Amino acid sequence: MDTRTFENLKRELEAGLDPDQLVELERVLSGLISARMAEAVIARQSHRRRIICPHCGSDDVVKDGKDKRGHQRFWCRKRNGHGCGKTFNVLTNTPLARMRKADLWYRFLMMQRGGLSLLRTSEFLKISSRTAWRWRHCFLSLPASLQSEKLDGIVEVDETFLLDSFKGSRGWKRGNPPANRPPRYRGRDASHAVTFSEQVPILMAVDRAGGRYHAVLEARSTKAIEKALGKRIAMGAIVCTDGLKSYSSIVRKAGAEHVVIPPPNRSWLRKAIGGKPRVPGRFTLGRVNAEHESLKTFLNGRFKGVSTAYLPSYMGWLRQAREGGFDTKDYLERPIAARR
Ligand SMILES: [Zn+2]
Repeated sequence: MDTRTFENLKRELEAGLDPDQLVELERVLSGLISARMAEAVIARQSHRRRIICPHCGSDDVVKDGKDKRGHQRFWCRKRNGHGCGKTFNVLTNTPLARMRKADLWYRFLMMQRGGLSLLRTSEFLKISSRTAWRWRHCFLSLPASLQSEKLDGIVEVDETFLLDSFKGSRGWKRGNPPANRPPRYRGRDASHAVTFSEQVPILMAVDRAGGRYHAVLEARSTKAIEKALGKRIAMGAIVCTDGLKSYSSIVRKAGAEHVVIPPPNRSWLRKAIGGKPRVPGRFTLGRVNAEHESLKTFLNGRFKGVSTAYLPSYMGWLRQAREGGFDTKDYLERPIAARR
């Protein structure tokens, strides 16, 4: 619809609707918007009052027509030593930047949420199975960037380990298995003697206001833990850990207080009669250990194991699921609004 017809339509609607028609119109519009949710999210983000250039951070930007995918394009003005002169849209620097066919994204997400296989989804939407596979990973990695900036109050920090997985590695097909390792079947132990190198360390931190931070560590070393966690602890927070040495210096540097929780006594007798009753408000590692368990259940139950390379994506999905449920609009809109 051209601009003039649209303006006329708006004026007519403003002038002559009775309340019943207004309510009816609201229903029709919300149906139209939810059918084209992804495009609506992109359009809404493009109409934000303050748009920041993702290349240089300047806010001196102007609208610059539509790009070939139909998204609003912006141009970062270059003057007085500010700005970079580049163009962008609201999806630049997000995993969705190079994806086409935004009109199908919403239905794709709904079908994936509903548990439809990738093959069936691709047949239904008439996209190639390769595109469907790529989309799944783009959408999965969307919330990976959403993490709590600072954890405050009582913070529980602990690591867990997942078996390193090369699932999906092209090396298997080319007769060149990664890390020179024989195939292992999901759910089995790493081997009779689990070697340390087959374990991927995962760091998790949660606070009691719902803040959470997850990281795949390069190694279980002070350097790796500090790199991941160093700036995430708020000054004055109370940090509970299992007493691993690395934590004390990190906590001290953050200006927080350190509480060491001794490991639970897990003798068979203690297990049989049960632990002491939980005292609310006591310092424990209960919350963060529950988070570890839910990650493992999530990965092995729902996704039948995932490749280590994709762990940050799946952990981002889990965070979003635990924070706000799976509202498809929020799922798309929050990472786009938060992108830098
Ligand atoms: Zn710029």
